[in-house]
Amino acid sequence: MADVVIIGAGTSGLFSAAMLAKKGYHVELYEKAKEIGGRARSWHKDGYTVDYGCHLIRNGSKGYIPTTLAELGEQLDLILLKEPEILWWEGQQFHELPRDPTKLRERGILDESDLPKIFRLLQEKDTIVEQNMGKSIQEWLQEIKASPRLENFLRMAAMGIVCPFLERASAGELFDFIIRGVALGGQPSGYPIGGFGVVHEKLAKIIMSFGGRITTGERIRKINVTNGRVSGLQVGSKNIKAEQVICAFPCQQLFRILEENLVSARPREMLMGLTPVSGISIDYGLKEKITEVSGIILLPGEPFIFGLITSNIDPSVAPPGRQLMTFTALTSPEEAKDKFKAKAILAHLEATISEMFPRKDRNIEWRRPLFLPIIDGVELNCNQYRAKRPKPEVPGIEGLFLAGDCLGVEGAGGDLAVTSARLCVERIEERYG
Ligand SMILES: Cc1cc2nc3c(=O)[nH]c(=O)nc-3n(C[C@H](O)[C@H](O)[C@H](O)COP(=O)(O)OP(=O)(O)OC[C@H]3O[C@@H](n4cnc5c(N)ncnc54)[C@H](O)[C@@H]3O)c2cc1C
Repeated sequence: MADVVIIGAGTSGLFSAAMLAKKGYHVELYEKAKEIGGRARSWHKDGYTVDYGCHLIRNGSKGYIPTTLAELGEQLDLILLKEPEILWWEGQQFHELPRDPTKLRERGILDESDLPKIFRLLQEKDTIVEQNMGKSIQEWLQEIKASPRLENFLRMAAMGIVCPFLERASAGELFDFIIRGVALGGQPSGYPIGGFGVVHEKLAKIIMSFGGRITTGERIRKINVTNGRVSGLQVGSKNIKAEQVICAFPCQQLFRILEENLVSARPREMLMGLTPVSGISIDYGLKEKITEVSGIILLPGEPFIFGLITSNIDPSVAPPGRQLMTFTALTSPEEAKDKFKAKAILAHLEATISEMFPRKDRNIEWRRPLFLPIIDGVELNCNQYRAKRPKPEVPGIEGLFLAGDCLGVEGAGGDLAVTSARLCVERIEERYG
């Protein structure tokens, strides 16, 4: 019997398994899909390596993914985004968002009066994050009597936590992201050379080198619980014994494989009720290179759109002379699931990209639309900031743990997948190590 069974071979499951395996635990990982990587998997098509939507690593080589991989003995080669790292499209042209705060003022992106407000964030970092977790950015802006320019700027900055909706984005979560970025030396985002799948290949190698096992194409159907303790798992038609289990997928899905009445009402409602980030995304393989833009493109309208010309960052992800681009429109979870609304948003997304890049339409080699009820497991809004989200232990069930990008730890999206895995492993060690 494995010491720990992990359900799900996405970023959080693979990191949990690799960290535990390195500490000497015998781990077994089950993944229902044919391949590993979950929402950050790569797809190989006719010489293209296509990530699942835009995928970047915040804070470059100092981000959670490369630093945790380094602790596990693996180096991740990254390409750091060049200046301008971020551009926005408005009035039929691109505008650059410089990283240097004085340039932000020189170019009229911020008012003179805004700079002290930004610097105050950094000076009061010990209190300002906690004090503003449950406050929306809009409320904070009103409190400090911010200029409309600062509001526009923070809308774009809030894309760092994938919540550019100022009326509900958690100010504390955003400040924590900004302050952490500055503390790490302000490194730009990074892209793993060869595509995001490289991260998972490295993790799988670590897991297997320590004797761990990864089984793909095998869905866990049920978590068996006896007298308040995990006793096993139903895998396909057979049952296996298991005493420590990590569910490494969005926690809203936990009760697909766990009987609801095993968890009392309040924690159960919290787990099921978290709102994810949702959207609609489109990838294009293009016959020709039609643009040199290599930064993150933002279109701060309704819906909020962002995108990346991935092959301009890493040419190895497209055949020579071709181009790979990916754009996403953020939606509500309901819109992403509603066939008609989703199709209308997709049409708008494609038309918007054509406006930006008129040569796109006659160069399409292939296109892949994706309807994404879950982009990030949890939206970092002021109703579900980290203290209001679940911890790794499932209340009332001994031996059952959670990891994944819904948990109550720092970071957003893929970062949260890593920090949650770290905390989950720490808790398993404390209890059974
Ligand atoms: C379009 C898009 C763009 C993104 N961009 C970024 C970005 O730029 N930067 C960033 O940091 N993050 C980004 N993210 C978020 C990031 O991909 C996720 O946070 C991360 O992949 C979550 O990893 P996870 O392991 O927690 O969950 P998942 O990746 O969802 O992995 C869960 C795995 O569990 C498996 N599973 C579920 N149930 C079972 C079962 N019963 N039995 C067996 N297996 C099961 C699933 O098949 C899946 O493989 C993006 C996500 C999307 C969708």
